[in-house]
Amino acid sequence: MNNPQAAAAEIGNPLLPLLRQQQSAFLENGAPDYKQRIEALNKLKKAIGEYKEEIVAAVQEDFGYRSDTETWVTEIVTTLNEIVATKSHLKKWMKPTNPGRSISAGMAKSRVMYQPKGVIGIMGAWNYPVLLVLSPLIGVIAAGNSAIVKPSDLTPKAGEVVKRMIASAFDESYITVVTGDVEVASSFTQLPFDHIVYTGSTHVGKIVMKAAAENLTPVTLELGGKSPTIINVNYPISKAVDRIMMGKFMNSGQTCIAPDYIMVHESKVDELVSTLQEKITKRYPSVDDNKDISWIVNDRHFIRINNLIKDAEERGATVIQVNPTNASIPEGTRIIPPTLLLNVDPDSDVMQEEIFGPVLPIITYRDIDEAIRFVNERPRPLALYYFDNDKKQAEKVLSRTTSGGACVNETMLHFANEKMAFGGIGPSGLGGYHGQAGFLEFSHKKSVLYQGAFSPAPLMNRAYPPFVVKILKVVSNILS
Ligand code: NAD
Repeated sequence: MNNPQAAAAEIGNPLLPLLRQQQSAFLENGAPDYKQRIEALNKLKKAIGEYKEEIVAAVQEDFGYRSDTETWVTEIVTTLNEIVATKSHLKKWMKPTNPGRSISAGMAKSRVMYQPKGVIGIMGAWNYPVLLVLSPLIGVIAAGNSAIVKPSDLTPKAGEVVKRMIASAFDESYITVVTGDVEVASSFTQLPFDHIVYTGSTHVGKIVMKAAAENLTPVTLELGGKSPTIINVNYPISKAVDRIMMGKFMNSGQTCIAPDYIMVHESKVDELVSTLQEKITKRYPSVDDNKDISWIVNDRHFIRINNLIKDAEERGATVIQVNPTNASIPEGTRIIPPTLLLNVDPDSDVMQEEIFGPVLPIITYRDIDEAIRFVNERPRPLALYYFDNDKKQAEKVLSRTTSGGACVNETMLHFANEKMAFGGIGPSGLGGYHGQAGFLEFSHKKSVLYQGAFSPAPLMNRAYPPFVVKILKVVSNILS
C-alpha cells in the first residue's frame, strides 16, 4: 500500500474513507485465491445478466438515442465474452513463472510471483460507458485486486446502473462505484491508489498522471488520437470501404479507435468517394429516423463536430454529407449524417484534433513513403489501419510507423481479440490491458530467490584474498 502521508491533497478528500476501508479489508483478508477470483467473475457475469436490459435503456437515455444493436454488441456481449475468456485462462496466468537460474545469483532457484497491487481506481470515458469500466475491472479482479470505479459524468444514467449493479454483487469493501461530476473525478485521481486505470482524452490524461505522480501511483492511460487509415493503390476499394465503414460509423464515430482520416492514392480518390457514397447510402438509406444511427452524446460535442465541418469548409474543403432522402435533421436531435471531406487543409481543425464523430477527411498521396511521412509528422496514434495484399509492403508500413495497435486489411478488430494487449503509445496512452495483458498490468511481478544449502555469502563475508581481484579481472576480460 502507498504511504498514507504521501499526498497533502488527500487530506479532506471525501473519498479517502472508502479507499482506507478497502485497503484495510485487503490487508485483513489477504489476496483472494483462484477460487475467490472465479467466484467474483461469476458474480459480475450474473449481475450483467440481471442488469443488461437496464444498461441498454440507460445508455439509450444518456445518448438521447443509441442504436440498441451497438449497445448489445459493445457494452454487453463484448464484456461477457471477456469474462468467459478470463475465467478459462486464469489458473494458468496465476501460476508463478520460472525465469531460470543465474550464475551471478549463485545458481539459486528463482521464480516470479504475480501478486495483486492492492486497491485500483478505474475511471471510464462516456463513449462506451459500461464496457470501459467493466473491461478493466475484469483484469483487476483476475489479478486479485479490490477496486473503486468512477464512470464518466457525461453518461450519468449508465453510471447509476453500473453503481447499483456492482452494489448488488459485491461488498463495498471489495468493489464499489462512485459517481459524480468533475470535482469528484478530481478527488478520485488524488487518492493514493495502488494503480489507476484511466480511459479518456489525452488532455485529462495529463491531469490524471500529474495527480497520480503526487502519490507515485502507477497509471494505465487509455487515451485517444487521430488513427490514420492508408489504402494502398492495389487494394480493392470496395473491400476497404466495407471495413472502414464498420470502424468509422459505429456509434457515429464516437470510438477511440475509429479510423480518423483516410489516405488514398491520388488516382483512386474518385473511386473511393463514389464507393463510400454508394455503400453509405445502402447502409443508411435515411438519416433522420434511422434506428442504426446513434446520436452525438451531448450538445457540446454536437456543436464541436459541426464546427469542425464548418471550419474545414471555410478553409476550402469540399463537404459531402450522405443524406439520401435530403431530410432535414429534426430539431432537438443530435444526428450528424456520415460526412466526407475532400481537399482538406492539413491545418484545419478537423486535421488537428481527434474527430470523434461521423466525419471522414480524405487525403491523397502519391507514393506510400509520403503517406508514412504524413503519419510520422503527427503525434503517435492509438491505431493505424493499412489496406494492402502485399505482405512485405504492409510490414514496411507497420515497422516504419508507431501506433498503439494496428490492423492490416481491417479496422478496429485488434481491440476485439482479448488475447492481445490493447493500449496506446505516447500521447495515445501508456500501458495496456485485456486478457493476460490486463492480468499482468494489474499484478505486481515479484521476483523471489530461494537460496539452497550453499550461498556465496560466507565467501563475501571474509577479507577478500588478493586472487579475487585477479579472477574478477579475467571475468571482465571475457565479458568485454
Ligand atoms: P474525458 O477525458 O473528458 O473524461 C474521462 C474521465 O475523466 C471522466 O470520468 C471524467 O469525469 C474525468 N475527468 C474529466 N475532467 C477531469 C479532471 N479535470 N480531473 C480528473 N478527471 C477528470 O474523456 P471523454 O471525453 O470522456 O472521452 C473521450 C476521449 O477518450 C477520446 O479522446 C477517446 O479517444 C478516448 N478514449 C480512449 C479509449 C481507449 O481505450 N484508449 C476508449 C474510449 C475513449
